[in-house]
Amino acid sequence: RFRAWVVDKSNDSFSLDLKELTVDDLSPGEVVVRVAWSGVNYKDGLAGIPDGNVVETYPLIPGIDLAGTVVHSDDPRYKEGDEVIVASAQLGVSHDGGFSEMARVPGDWIIPLPEGLTLKEAMVYGTAGFTAAMSIQRMEENGLNPEKGPVLVAGATGGVGSTAVAMLAKRGYTVVCGTGKSSEHDYLRQLGASEILSREELSGAKRPLQKRRWAGAVDPVGGETLTYLLSTMDFGGCVALSGLAGGPKFSSTVFPFILRGVNLLGIDSAHISNDFRRKVWNRLAADLKPEGQLPYIGAEEITLEELPRAMSTILEGGVRGRILVQLS
Ligand code: NAP
Repeated sequence: RFRAWVVDKSNDSFSLDLKELTVDDLSPGEVVVRVAWSGVNYKDGLAGIPDGNVVETYPLIPGIDLAGTVVHSDDPRYKEGDEVIVASAQLGVSHDGGFSEMARVPGDWIIPLPEGLTLKEAMVYGTAGFTAAMSIQRMEENGLNPEKGPVLVAGATGGVGSTAVAMLAKRGYTVVCGTGKSSEHDYLRQLGASEILSREELSGAKRPLQKRRWAGAVDPVGGETLTYLLSTMDFGGCVALSGLAGGPKFSSTVFPFILRGVNLLGIDSAHISNDFRRKVWNRLAADLKPEGQLPYIGAEEITLEELPRAMSTILEGGVRGRILVQLS
């Protein structure tokens, strides 16, 4: 038997309970994994509230990311002892996820742990870091490089933001951060920020086109921040939009697109091919890996018992970097 958090919802009741389960209780799959580490994402916070609109089938074990060791496999590609990552699939949404000491998953969802990463480092990244890396990959496919000019990272102290700052700095980009946390400037400089702007400075736009400032932007915030970004991108600049921490609605005009050739790149880390997923994970283990910074980003480690508090904190925007969950 092992322990796992289970969310359940019926007509007028909602619960999040730590339960003892057996492997037979888990969603079906060919590979059983002893989970070593998981991490807390914004989406996991939403899974823990009644109207989060994330969980598709109840009851369910939340947790969209996990890293661990295979203990049993009916898939010939994997064997006992293999170290693996499962992230950005249906995990914690419609399939039992990573807030559990054991998991059972389809072999097709598995990413073998790339050489150059530990299981813990993989969860310092988690879906947040993967999304940051995918944002960089997509911007670079669209012509971004360090010579083009500074890159703005919005929501910089969050999971997507912190990992993006450190990876861009590692790649030689000049990184400018937007944050609502004036107390965290030292942290952002430690990750490689060269300039820090307040959230207010990045909110809205007085005119559809303002002074050109950014060659690229990683935007997990959306809302008024996206309005600002579109009005200040340089010619041919790329905005990689992944989130809505600042709200789902934004306003703009056609002018950034037709007069400055701005590219608005939608980042969806879920619906991508496994080849692309592996390519991005391999970059996370190699040229994008900010070796020295990962321990700062993943400095907060919690136990299974402490999860509900962390799931609430992330919804309040109160997290710095990534919260790691140690399971074995
Ligand atoms: P997170 O750790 O909570 O980071 C979000 C950050 O946004 C916060 O730390 C805060 O940073 C900033 N923020 C919070 N509230 C804000 C507000 N009202 N206005 C402006 N900024 C605000 O969450 P995360 O895991 O990085 O995820 C961030 C977003 O990306 C979420 O919307 C998530 O759903 C999305 N996401 C999408 C994908 C995808 O595949 N598309 C994948 C992963 C995540 P500062 O205090 O530094 O400003």
